[in-house]
Amino acid sequence: QDRVVSGHSGAEAETEGTLRPDRLKEYIGQEELKEKLSIFIEASLARQEPLDHVLLYGPPGLGKTTLAHIIANELGVGIRYTSGPAIERPGDLASILTNIDDREVLFIDEIHRLSRPVEEVLYPAMEDFALDLVLGKGPGARSVRLDLPRFTLVGATTRPGMLASPLRDRFGVLLHLDFYHPEELAHIVDRSARVLGIPMHPDAAYEIARRSRGTPRIANRLLKRIRDYAQVRGDGQVSLVLATEALELLAVDPMGLDQVDRRLLVSIAERYHGGPVGLETLSAAVGEESGTIEEVVEPYLLQQGFLQRTPRGRILTRRAYLHLGLPAEPELTD
Ligand code: ADP
Repeated sequence: QDRVVSGHSGAEAETEGTLRPDRLKEYIGQEELKEKLSIFIEASLARQEPLDHVLLYGPPGLGKTTLAHIIANELGVGIRYTSGPAIERPGDLASILTNIDDREVLFIDEIHRLSRPVEEVLYPAMEDFALDLVLGKGPGARSVRLDLPRFTLVGATTRPGMLASPLRDRFGVLLHLDFYHPEELAHIVDRSARVLGIPMHPDAAYEIARRSRGTPRIANRLLKRIRDYAQVRGDGQVSLVLATEALELLAVDPMGLDQVDRRLLVSIAERYHGGPVGLETLSAAVGEESGTIEEVVEPYLLQQGFLQRTPRGRILTRRAYLHLGLPAEPELTD
């Protein structure tokens, strides 16, 4: 599958590491979020207390993992990475928590995918830095409380609505990440090109930015594919003409929509007369998992006004028909 949006390959995870900014001042965009975060970090450093638990939420590839790493750097502490699906049993989490160092950051990606029994362990840990253990079985069982090091939990999720409310309530800092503006993404592309040593014209950086679905991960991915193209078809320099040619070859259209986006929109237009159509039906029609559609594909289409979510299902907007070059259904709204 050649989708430019989803999935982490091994090699990609590696360059993601090198392209990751280490400090808040190198982190481009999300100005409001950065301002709040820098205040909370400074205050906690001044009080010599761990930073309150932070929940980062927003679509994939916008920089949540990067921010967690930055938070630890700014606090001058270490970070442990794990994810909701990786913590299978309560004991797994208990062993992570007992091994953490004082004030360290524990990053849990996809935190909405923690199981209930694992969440139960997390509650006293977040609230009182304590672990409740039950020793023995039956009437003789007793519960003991173990003190844990004080730590900062940084949770990341693409689905804040799926978080149990007792879990959500235990985060002191909630930060929402938004899609980036093309100017900000151009900055990110420019920075990545410098890190990777790719000679590039500013107008090419802007073109890549414009077609990256507001998402740094996609911008970096496109940049790397365009570098390949420049190496083989050109002299290694990335000009606007070359970038545009490469983007066409990658089937990324001028709005940044890729084949999966277009297949989804076209299928609503052609099979369902513009909708409304339910998520499951759509998932079967385009051959993508409903979770992927909801978390990865749709957010940008909604933000760009190509799609609307209604209680009866998804509907296509006039803007989508225009973009696809299809005749619109007569009763459409904008
Ligand atoms: P998420 O955890 O939200 O899926 P990541 O933190 O893994 O996203 O970011 C994906 C890629 O985009 C990383 O390579 C990261 O370096 C880059 N990136 C994300 N946000 C920014 C930013 N604000 N400035 C520079 N690079 C960024």
